Amino acid sequence: MENLVQLQDQHFIADLMYARRNNMLGAPVYREIGFGNTLLMHPKVAEALMSLVPILEKNGLKMRICDAYRPPLAHQRMVEIIPIKGFFKSDYRESNHCHGTAIDVCLTDLNGKNLRYPCQVDAYAPRFQKQVANGDFNAFQQHLAKARHDFTHARPEAVANREFLKQLMESHGFESIPHEWWHYNIQGWQQYPVVEWDR
Ligand SMILES: [Zn+2]
Repeated sequence: MENLVQLQDQHFIADLMYARRNNMLGAPVYREIGFGNTLLMHPKVAEALMSLVPILEKNGLKMRICDAYRPPLAHQRMVEIIPIKGFFKSDYRESNHCHGTAIDVCLTDLNGKNLRYPCQVDAYAPRFQKQVANGDFNAFQQHLAKARHDFTHARPEAVANREFLKQLMESHGFESIPHEWWHYNIQGWQQYPVVEWDR
């Protein structure tokens, strides 16, 4: 763990979705493996996040961090639960979360209430979670269109919030990916290795 740092700052809400039950897995996998709600990341990620603080303050916002470093053991269990191609990388070594170089985030108001987006982080909704738990992935896969940056059939406010977040992150050292509006990689992520985790 010597390559990772823990982020503890009042502008960021540590709320790892896989440490709670209301996520697409329907299980608190991070707690099950003994990792819990520990907000770890590569030092470059923490540094880039801290550079956002003046803008967060100026706009009266906080940032909810729904995933950061992910232990490989947790990733392997997640792939077993949701084997949808492209949702989780089948090989944990290909997930930037397992390198500590990716984060899943959204902006909130000062009370921690999420701003409106075209869908929840991870495209989570209880009805899809139930279907996925029953092995029915079709409706959820269709719903995933709303996770894309090019999805525009949403309230203008939701689209504007997504685009504000993207502009903010891309101007502070992060890269977006086309199919998950909440996911950001630190620039230069290619040079950082997988981090194993021992409880
Ligand atoms: Zn992610």
